[in-house]
This record gives sequence, structure tokens and C-alpha cells, in this order.
Amino acid sequence: MHLSAMEDGRSRALRLWGHVSADLLSAAVVAAVALGLYPPPAALQLTLPAALAVLVVACWLAMRRHDRGLCEHCAAAVPLDAAQRAARYGLRFRAAHAGGRPRVVVAYLAALALANFAPGIPGHVLWAAAQLSLVYALRAAVTHRRLQPWCPLCRGGGLDETVSTDPLPSDDRQLV
Ligand SMILES: [Zn+2]
Ligand SMILES: [Zn+2]
Repeated sequence: MHLSAMEDGRSRALRLWGHVSADLLSAAVVAAVALGLYPPPAALQLTLPAALAVLVVACWLAMRRHDRGLCEHCAAAVPLDAAQRAARYGLRFRAAHAGGRPRVVVAYLAALALANFAPGIPGHVLWAAAQLSLVYALRAAVTHRRLQPWCPLCRGGGLDETVSTDPLPSDDRQLV
């Protein structure tokens, strides 16, 4: 195979990996909760969590790179009724914007860590629910990225500075 064709294929694979990284991260969170509730056999007690941690870091880096660039898969995934859908996702948009504020993120991560110390069965349930809330946070980030041109919080501006402040289209052109 020609070298540039190989590189092209590789960068395409990397872009696809970045595009699905939020889904993979969600799956990793669910797997981590499952491992916490049902510890694996002794032989795998180190390797499974370690493999999961490597997967989480790799997905996180891929997701950050994906969110900084253009993604044809995201552009293709924008629904035709984006404006109507965006009107229903106020909570997700608020969560995504909150995720751009370092203080909120630190408080959230501290709450996740504290949930580890909740005692008894209710503590286990609380811990699992707290960790699974990460899946919602990830979905919120994906939804916000995909529907950002229709996000009322971005349109209003000034809610926070950390979320991308790309210029917004006034028509239905996609901005990904
Ligand atoms: Zn994408
Ligand atoms: Zn927004």
C-alpha cells in the first residue's frame, strides 16, 4: 500500500476512535462500576482495573483531540430536526456548560471520590449512582457538541468562557 494512503487510513482510524471515545468512556464507566460491585477473580484483580484505567486515559485523550477539531462523523450525525431536539435538551446543555467550569468539575470529582466512603448497601447504591452519573455527563458533552449551534446558552453568551465560543451560524449550516 502507498505510504500516504496508509497514513490517510491511520488518521481516519484515529478520527473515528476520537469520535466514538465518549461512548467507549461511558462503557468503561459502566465496566468500572460492575468491577466495583462484583470484584473479579483474584488472578484478574490487578490486570482488569489496570487495563480499564489505560482504556479510560486513552479514550479521554482521544476525546479531547476530537473536541478540538472538525469531525465529519459528527457533521453527518446532526439530526434534521436539530433545532427541535435542542429545545428539549436544556438540562444536558446546562450540564455541559457546568462541565466547562473548573470549580464545578473539582466539586463533582470530590463528590465522586467521597461516595467511595459511604457505608453499607445504601453506600454501594450511592457509589454506583454517583459513578454512573459520569455517563450522563459524557452524553451531555456529546449532545452539546453536536447541537452547539442551537444551544441557547452558547447563543446567549457570557455563561462561561471555557466552552468553545465559535461563531454561531444564523442559518442551518452545521458548525462542527
Ligand atoms: Zn465526531
Ligand atoms: Zn452551549
